[in-house]
Order: sequence, then structure tokens, then C-alpha cells
Amino acid sequence: MSAPSQAPDCPLCSQPGGEVLARDERLRVVLADAPQHPAFLRVIWNAHVAETCDLEVSDRDHLMRVVFEVERGLRDGMQPDKINLASLGNVVPHLHWHVIGRWCDDPTFPGSVWSAPAARDPELVAERTARSRGALALLKALLRERLSVMGLREFR
Ligand SMILES: [Zn+2]
Repeated sequence: MSAPSQAPDCPLCSQPGGEVLARDERLRVVLADAPQHPAFLRVIWNAHVAETCDLEVSDRDHLMRVVFEVERGLRDGMQPDKINLASLGNVVPHLHWHVIGRWCDDPTFPGSVWSAPAARDPELVAERTARSRGALALLKALLRERLSVMGLREFR
């Protein structure tokens, strides 16, 4: 198989896009470095493709099966108040899905993670962030285990 196509100056072609938890030849699952929102995962297509409709049907199905497995793992591992799924790519037009755990007391709830901070007690926000951060080791282990069942290789 030829190497996935790459685009010059694309950060998701040149960098992992976060801590890689698992990957296969088509995609990777990473934990982003998002200090305000610790439960911030991405499912990133390895090749430089802009739109979901650029994928073959079997590839599209694989991508979405992994996105939903990450969503389920996030719910089981951290019990967030809500999970946000988003595929935007306006800033980085390289196909990727965000799978983000949200809590009513997180810094920007009920806005998106990209919204301006909500008017909220900073101490409570800090406690929420610390609790979420504390649960990440468990979440990572759970996701690695479940994704390996789907044939993805674990990364540590
Ligand atoms: Zn790219």
C-alpha cells in the first residue's frame, strides 16, 4: 500500500495531533492537549482528505465506527453530562472528528469548547478540570482496550 497522501503545511499531516492512544493504517485516535477540557479526543484520518464524502464507503464506515466507539468509551469511562461530536475542519481542513466530554460546570458549558468562558466560579471550574484530569488514565486504558478489539494497535 502506498503511504497516505500528505499536504504541505498541514499540522495533522506533520504531527500526531495529540497523544496517540491507538491507530491503524487508516486512522488514529488521540487525546488532545486541551487544558480547559481534558476529555478532548480526536479521531484523525491519516491521509490528507478534506471531506467525509471523499472517502470510500468502507473507509467512511470504519471512521464512524471508531468515532462511536470512542464516544461510548468516553461515556463509560468518565460519565460526562454530555458528549459533543464535531467535524469542522475550518481551521485545519484535514478530516478529523472531535469527541469531547462536557460537564455542566466546565469552563464554557453550555457553549462549545471554543466559546468564550462562561461566567462561573473559577474555583469550581478548577475543581471540575482537576476531576476530569484525574480520570484520564482510566479513560485512556479503557479506550486502548476497546480499540484494540476493533483491530487498532495500542500506543503507549
Ligand atoms: Zn493533512
